[in-house]
Amino acid sequence: MIYLDHLASTPLDPLVLEAMLPWMRPEAAGNPHAAHRAGWRAADAVEEARAEVAALVGARPGEVVFTSGATEANALALLGGVPPEGGCIVSAVEHASELACLPELRRRGHPVAVLPVDGTGRVDPAELERHLSSLGKPALVSVMAANNEVGTIQPLAELAAVAACHGATIHSDAVQALGTLALDMPALGLHGLSLSGHKLYGPMGIGALVVRPPFRPVPASAGGSAGGGQQRGLRGGTLPTPLCVGLGIACRLARERREEDARRIAGLRDRLWDRLHDLLGDRLPGLRRNGAADGLAGCLNVTIPGIDAADRLLDLPELAASTGSACHSAAGEPSHVLLALGLPAADAHASLRFGLGRGTTAEEVDAAAALLAAALSGRGPAGPLRTA
Ligand code: PLP
Repeated sequence: MIYLDHLASTPLDPLVLEAMLPWMRPEAAGNPHAAHRAGWRAADAVEEARAEVAALVGARPGEVVFTSGATEANALALLGGVPPEGGCIVSAVEHASELACLPELRRRGHPVAVLPVDGTGRVDPAELERHLSSLGKPALVSVMAANNEVGTIQPLAELAAVAACHGATIHSDAVQALGTLALDMPALGLHGLSLSGHKLYGPMGIGALVVRPPFRPVPASAGGSAGGGQQRGLRGGTLPTPLCVGLGIACRLARERREEDARRIAGLRDRLWDRLHDLLGDRLPGLRRNGAADGLAGCLNVTIPGIDAADRLLDLPELAASTGSACHSAAGEPSHVLLALGLPAADAHASLRFGLGRGTTAEEVDAAAALLAAALSGRGPAGPLRTA
């Protein structure tokens, strides 16, 4: 299996697994919130992990709120973070976990605005300026650091500067960016940031919302997020020690390796595009790369006009790639991200996303391009590919 779906989920780094295993053994029993020696041991491990998460984004440990993943972190930021009398402004290419919060915010009476993006998926800071001026109220702005479908990197520092001029709070879903990009919250002027373990070679089922003052979202409900009052009442529930430890190590590895990873993986991404172009460009002149060319190192999104991308992937069982966000793949809807970039629905359906990562090799990249090309020319293991 050639695994080119790192944007959907990254394999667990062996060092992360090694660090987690002792905390899954019976002798490591101990609730990290309990007041005895076993509990304190677990609490120490959790706090060490919290410090690693904070260090990755230039925050303080006390600003890190562990969650079950980025979906929960985004929901806590948006549903709990919009000022009481204020509005919410997000970009059109945010992850579904944010867009899903918007109807609820509208229901609660908050004005909600969605920022358009250009043909590469980038938000224009002038557009944010216009929206904040016309809102004329306190606001929470949320714009992702890098897009999970086309890899476009947003001008966060400029957006944060615009938000600051209007006294607005700014949050960023940095799930996809942190493995290969340095993001320092104070330097960027960010108040909130979401991250996820399984996009960083860490475990599934854990993530974090990092909140810097004055941003302090309110938990969704007293019986829900607040629960037993853990994590300063922001998000209750017993913390999963092995998952926290795994996330902490994953963040430390990201900090140590992101520069080298970014350089190597971006090279492989460009190699994949070159190979696809060499093999298919003559026959399929409409073959196109989506998003900004200087986007996320591990992301290559291509449109192969005339194909049905979902069918194509089913025809290539030895290749793990995606038609877009993993969350959308099952729904059969065209990607809202590609539509926001201006692609017609037919082209959005004809687009494939390749997610390259730390373990990807040049041989895999060449083999993936060859498999796809062979399938498209009718020489693939499943015979000629149907066109939609
Ligand atoms: N935000 C982005 C940009 C993502 O790509 C994803 C996962 O696909 C999420 C949020 C949700 O993350 P999690 O799986 O941790 O809930």
